[in-house]
Amino acid sequence: MRVLGIETSCDETGVALYDTRHGLLADALYSQVAMHADFGGVVPELASRDHTRKLLPLIDDVLGEAHCGRADLDAIAYTAGPGLVGALMVGASTAHGMARSLDIPVLGVHHMEGHLLAPMLEDDPVAFPFVALLVSGGHTQLVAVEGLGAYRLLGESVDDAAGEAFDKAAKMLELGYPGGPAIARLAEHGDPTRFRFPRPMTDRPGLDFSFSGLKTHTLTTIKALRDEGALDEQAHADIARAFEEAVVDTLVIKCRRALDDTGLKRLVVAGGVSANVRLRERLDHALTKRRAKAFYPRNRFCTDNGAMIAYAGAQRLMAGEHDDSAILAVPRWPLTDLRPPAV
Ligand code: ATP
Ligand code: MG
Ligand code: FE
Repeated sequence: MRVLGIETSCDETGVALYDTRHGLLADALYSQVAMHADFGGVVPELASRDHTRKLLPLIDDVLGEAHCGRADLDAIAYTAGPGLVGALMVGASTAHGMARSLDIPVLGVHHMEGHLLAPMLEDDPVAFPFVALLVSGGHTQLVAVEGLGAYRLLGESVDDAAGEAFDKAAKMLELGYPGGPAIARLAEHGDPTRFRFPRPMTDRPGLDFSFSGLKTHTLTTIKALRDEGALDEQAHADIARAFEEAVVDTLVIKCRRALDDTGLKRLVVAGGVSANVRLRERLDHALTKRRAKAFYPRNRFCTDNGAMIAYAGAQRLMAGEHDDSAILAVPRWPLTDLRPPAV
C-alpha cells in the first residue's frame, strides 16, 4: 500500500510517500520558521496561508521524486490534531479533496502518534511493548506503549513542555527560534561547573515534569549577572550549558524511573527535543548500564515531518481504518483517547 502523508499542524509543511513493502519513497519539508521569526512566535493565520501556498507544490515534488503519479496512490493520511485549527484544516481539506477525486481512503492521524512511531522508519525498528518519552514543542510525556493505539500515560509536564522551555530560555539569551538547537550549540562552549540549575520534581516519586521553575531560575541568573555587569559571551554559554544539563538530567532520571516502574527494556524518544545530542548520549549511557536500549528517529524526523504521518497512517489504513466523509481538525486531542484499530 502506497500512502501519501501530509503534516500541517503548526509551522512546518511536511509531505512524504510511504510504501508498506518498500519503505519510505520520498519526503519533503518546508519550514515557515523564517517567516514567523519577525513576530517572535508562530502567527496562526500566517501559518495557514503559507501551508495553502506550499502544500500542493510539495506534494508534486514528493510524487516527482518517487517517480509516481497521483494515480499510484492507494491512500492518504493527514495530521488531524492536535495543533492550530486553521493550519490543520489546510492539510485535512487537501487530503479529503484529493482522496475524493482519486476515490481512495483517507485517514486523520494523531500528530503525537506520528512522533511516537517515527523511530520505526529506521533500520533497527523498535518492537512493542516499550516506554516512550515524547519531548516536543508542545508535549513532555512518558507513555507505556503496549501496541498501536494502546497508550497509557505514565507522567507529563504540569506546565511548560521541554521544547517550550528550550525556546523560552533561548529567547532570554537572545538566541532566536527554534531555541533547542541554538542552546545546544552555545552550550558546547559552556563550563558545566559554573552554575548548577535545579532538576525539578526529581526529589519526589512520580513521573511528572515541571519546567517553568527552571525558566524562572534562568531569568534570575541572567538578571543577577547583568546587574553585576558580568553578562558576557562566556556567561551566555555557561547558562546555556547549565540549562541544557538540567533539562537532560531531569529527562534521564524520569526515563530510568519509568523503565524501572514498568519493567520494560526499550525506550523510544521522539519529538523535536529527541534531536538533542547530549540527551542521547546520557540516555544511551544510562540505559546500557541497565541492559536497556533507546530508539530515536533520524534527526530530520525528530521535529515535524510528513514521513511520520504517512507511516502512522499506513499502520491504521492497513488495518482497514479510514475517515467517513467528514474532515477532521481537532486542536486538542489527548493521545490516550486513541484506540487500537478494530480488527
Ligand atoms: P508538538 O509536537 O508537541 O505539537 P511541535 O510540533 O512544535 O510540538 P516539534 O516540531 O516536535 O514540536 O519540536 C520542536 C521543538 O523541538 C522546539 O521546541 C525546539 O526548540 C526543540 N528542539 C529541536 N531541536 C532540538 C535540540 N537539538 N535540542 C533541544 N531541543 C530541540
Ligand atoms: Mg515546528
Ligand atoms: Fe510536533
